[in-house]
Amino acid sequence: MLNQNMFLDIIDGTIPDAVSIISGGSKYPAIKGLVQFYQIPFGGVLIEAEFTDLPFIQNNSPAFHGLHIHEKVDCSDDFANTGMHYNKNHTHHPAHSGDLLPVLNNNGYSYMVFFDAFLDIKDIIGKSVILHEHRDDFTADPSGNSGEKIACGIITTVKRRSYKDIGRML
Ligand SMILES: [Zn+2]
Repeated sequence: MLNQNMFLDIIDGTIPDAVSIISGGSKYPAIKGLVQFYQIPFGGVLIEAEFTDLPFIQNNSPAFHGLHIHEKVDCSDDFANTGMHYNKNHTHHPAHSGDLLPVLNNNGYSYMVFFDAFLDIKDIIGKSVILHEHRDDFTADPSGNSGEKIACGIITTVKRRSYKDIGRML
């Protein structure tokens, strides 16, 4: 059975199956982030995401940023070549497989953990995580009107020996 304790155990004691190390583009180069993906044996993926140096929006006010998995594994040229949202089932936004929870910008910082029953690790390796400048309106097709792509990271598998190095890369 899926439950909170199982998820906490996974985050506390398990090396993720895939990670995406996020870097800001030319507009907000200071943005950094780490998104960790844990395959759940019953199906689905547990996602833990942390972002720092998000753009300052308004003092002590919440701001949201759209977060999506994009089809292509290419963060070059300010993320112009990341393709569309990962869309395994050929549906419309915000029902794309790659449509994730919005990031809550807490004066530049964000941390969140959520379960996504519709993802599988093997399908997202070699795709990219994109953070957008504005909130996802969860209506407009194909991308939720969430503005510019401001940060990107490719999704890669994790080798046990390399995992400890990830913290040092941030
Ligand atoms: Zn979408």
